[in-house]
Amino acid sequence: MVMDAKAATPEFFSATLPQNPGRIPVGRKTLLIPEMNRIASHLVAATFRGFGVTARVLGTYQGLDLGKEYTSGKECFPCQITLGDILYFMEKEKEGLGAAFDPAQYAYFLPESDGPCRFGLYSKFQRIVLDTLPGLQQLKITSVTTKDGYLPEGMIGPDKVLDLRKVAYFSFVVSDILDRLLWRIRPYEKEVGMADAFIEKAMETMEHAFERFALHKEFDRILDRLQQILQGGKEVVNPAIPPKPLVGVVGEIYLRMHSHANQNLIRMLEKYGAEVVNASMTEWVNYVSYDGLRGAKAEFLLYLKQCRFRPMIGYLKGMLAFGLDLLYQEHTQNKVYKRIHKIMDLPEDHKISHLEHILNEDDLYSFDIATEACLSIASIIACARAGYNGMVNVYPFTCMPSTTTAAIVKPYMNRLGIPYLDAPYDSSIQPGREAALRTFMYQAEQHFKHHGRTKSASPH
Ligand code: SF4
Repeated sequence: MVMDAKAATPEFFSATLPQNPGRIPVGRKTLLIPEMNRIASHLVAATFRGFGVTARVLGTYQGLDLGKEYTSGKECFPCQITLGDILYFMEKEKEGLGAAFDPAQYAYFLPESDGPCRFGLYSKFQRIVLDTLPGLQQLKITSVTTKDGYLPEGMIGPDKVLDLRKVAYFSFVVSDILDRLLWRIRPYEKEVGMADAFIEKAMETMEHAFERFALHKEFDRILDRLQQILQGGKEVVNPAIPPKPLVGVVGEIYLRMHSHANQNLIRMLEKYGAEVVNASMTEWVNYVSYDGLRGAKAEFLLYLKQCRFRPMIGYLKGMLAFGLDLLYQEHTQNKVYKRIHKIMDLPEDHKISHLEHILNEDDLYSFDIATEACLSIASIIACARAGYNGMVNVYPFTCMPSTTTAAIVKPYMNRLGIPYLDAPYDSSIQPGREAALRTFMYQAEQHFKHHGRTKSASPH
């Protein structure tokens, strides 16, 4: 039976709904946020609204046909999805607004990233496509590089930019916790549908909290509500259901987070008996800062050796900026997890320095090569050592860093005797996929029977 959302809603939800955040200005440019991770996108949009920016989350996956129409087939799957999302949105706005439709009134947020990866070219490619379509030349793409820490330009006063970045990061941490709460309670829910309905209402509550409290960085007030939600989440769990095999998911961030794109991988694993922990959003943000710090340090040392002081000072500043970012991020994350652990022992992220240490120990891969392979390979090893019963590497078909991960990790996991599955996706439905997941879950179940599971993440 699928429970209706109201029935699963504890009373505190309605008590926390704000009357009207009252800060959303009318008639200004609207910031469009693509939906990669559903909860994170909504909380980031709420954060922007809290700072007075009109922000909306783009609906996703309905425009996939358009995304395919304007790509050649050689692009990564997330590029097709994000392009389809913005084209579909514009088409629908045009239909709805008629003559009043003005593409110049929107800015589309699409972060960039450096490195040997096609992701850095998404915004340039999508700019070319938009420029070929009548009227869409005026639609601005707000794309900034990872060097700028994903900072949207021009829509917020310079005096508020740092605060906005701090709250946006905090919103990622909170969204990770809501996701982890869902994956913790759903396999043990009292009635089918109860956990999903609970988390949907929880997301709304947190959106309202960010709209109200973001501007003055009232983190404690947001955390008060988060603690109430965690407490309410315990009520969803049926304590009579015994613990299940614990499966970790790593891989390319978009596919890991976007449930349409990965054809509801987590739900499918749960259907065959798993409790799942997916790698987080914040892990990637921390990695960006860590990698920036690492790169600036390497350049600094190089110029120091050559006694070239002018460029050296530039890199010293870079080290300071990235170092302070990372320090702030890790401190914020620790603070939040410390508070929520009073209520539930949801798993924390690995520190990025720890992940680099793992890779160096076994000489499997180097952070010098960069990309998400650094995170995926090291996380798989960390989870295997921590007692997970199986690991899944999910990624877009042809994704370069994830294919590298697969090549390195598969023999390693074979030697350890821990079930491992590569799960590449594009928009097609692979006939053998469900059978592969079922077989993988059978192996994870056997591993669980013989070895038990990590004690640090207990459902009850
Ligand atoms: S990480 Fe993979 S999917 Fe993402 S841009 Fe790079 S190759 Fe494409």
